Amino acid sequence: MQLTEELIRGVVAEVLAGLRNGKAPAPAAVSPKGNWGVFNNVDDAVAAAGDAQRQFEKRGIDVRARAIDCIRAICFEQRESLGREEFDETRIGRLEHKIDKLIAVAKRIPGVEFLKTNAFSGGNGVALEEFAPFGVIGAITPVTHSLPTLAGNAINMLAAGNAMVVNPHPSAARIACKGVQLFNQAIAREIGIDNLITIIEKPTLESAEGIFNHRGVSLLCVTGGPAVARAALRSPKRAIVAGPGNPPVVVDETADLDNAAKSIVAGASYDNNLLCIGEKEVFVVESVFDELMETLTRHKAVRLSEKEVAALTKAAFVQAEGDPNKLVVNKDLIGQDAAVLAKHAGKSAPSETLMVYGETTAEHPFVDHEQMMPFVPLVRVKDVDEGIALAKKYEHGFRHTSIIHSRNIDTITRMGREMQTTLYIQNGPCTAGLGVGGEGYLSFSIATPTGEGVTTPMTFTRQRRSTSVGSMRVL
Ligand code: NAD
Repeated sequence: MQLTEELIRGVVAEVLAGLRNGKAPAPAAVSPKGNWGVFNNVDDAVAAAGDAQRQFEKRGIDVRARAIDCIRAICFEQRESLGREEFDETRIGRLEHKIDKLIAVAKRIPGVEFLKTNAFSGGNGVALEEFAPFGVIGAITPVTHSLPTLAGNAINMLAAGNAMVVNPHPSAARIACKGVQLFNQAIAREIGIDNLITIIEKPTLESAEGIFNHRGVSLLCVTGGPAVARAALRSPKRAIVAGPGNPPVVVDETADLDNAAKSIVAGASYDNNLLCIGEKEVFVVESVFDELMETLTRHKAVRLSEKEVAALTKAAFVQAEGDPNKLVVNKDLIGQDAAVLAKHAGKSAPSETLMVYGETTAEHPFVDHEQMMPFVPLVRVKDVDEGIALAKKYEHGFRHTSIIHSRNIDTITRMGREMQTTLYIQNGPCTAGLGVGGEGYLSFSIATPTGEGVTTPMTFTRQRRSTSVGSMRVL
């Protein structure tokens, strides 16, 4: 065997891990080609993740928990610097929320405790249903939360015993690679296995395609907008698709308007409305419309006039390439601060403004499109039924997220049945739907068209049954 620097590094890592845990070191496991998980081609990245996964699978659940703890600790302890690096690279959203999202990864993403076993016991003996790893999972991550999605996926996937290979968004690849290197270094120190998470350093559509079609990849988890969601749904492999949304909000005449205003601003301004679950358009019953418009100003939101909304619309939408009749969101305004949007509208707003808003018609581009910026259109409707019907229309059948502010339990129930969205939030901000200010747990990948919902370690398992005929029942 040739003694390379990496081999020596791996052996030292294992010995240290063994000493720290008072156990014998695990077998050698360092990929000859990677740079702590960063690769320049798909074949090498998949091969290294495959090697790592085969070793990982042989170790116990406690080893998985220790690997996950490394990811959590890095996200928490280095949240300020990593959050800033993501913000500096992408230039979208708000720095405080980049940091906040890393805390959420550390504290709220479920790990090995979510795995379960089903048991059947009867006259014929015992059967156990257990949830096994798939192997190597291919992950595509968005620019809107690059490291949080990668880290959250990694916690879920490693908890289930898998390894992963990531094709990050090209505009957020540097921070994704940095995270992968930190995670692998810490995991190798802790359990002696490198490359449980591998990543393509310079991702392209071709490298995404390469992962989609690779024989060494058993499952895909794709988080992103309509184009990548469609591509994943067409792929020959099973894909868990966390696709786009355009979450509508309905406010009826029974709502607590102060809570509705506070919640809309909190949700729609979070990371400058980059969240796929964020409030994107609001349908308000006429009798409380003016009062809600006024109430929003008490929560650091600035109202735009009709003329100002028109000016902002001109800046916020551009013609689609090759189709002069189609508008698309201007990328330059995505995730920008509310005060910047106000400037485009021809208005001066204080820098601490969280959201800008204005009255529009239902047919307005800001209602129709997932704008991903903290301008929220409010549409006047004659009654709550019209509001629910428009909410359904402009959610576009994504079945992603919808929100209502109402104290009428029948209305709340009716809208839930009508919308059929994966997340349905009542009387709170969108973030409550992911356990932040509401109950439940968090994931940055909410599988919508494929139906797995808010992903957990169980999402990344395959079911296996072991049957013992006539024995093992000890009753
Ligand atoms: P995006 O679709 O531009 O990119 C997402 C990822 O897909 C990137 O890694 C990108 O490089 C890749 N990609 C794009 N087109 C592709 C193709 N044809 N083939 C292969 N890969 C391709 O999205 P974004 O701007 O990074 O993220 C925002 C979008 O993602 C929004 O639509 C938002 O709703 C959605 N999103 C959904 C969830 C969810 O949990 N459902 C979470 C976050 C973001």
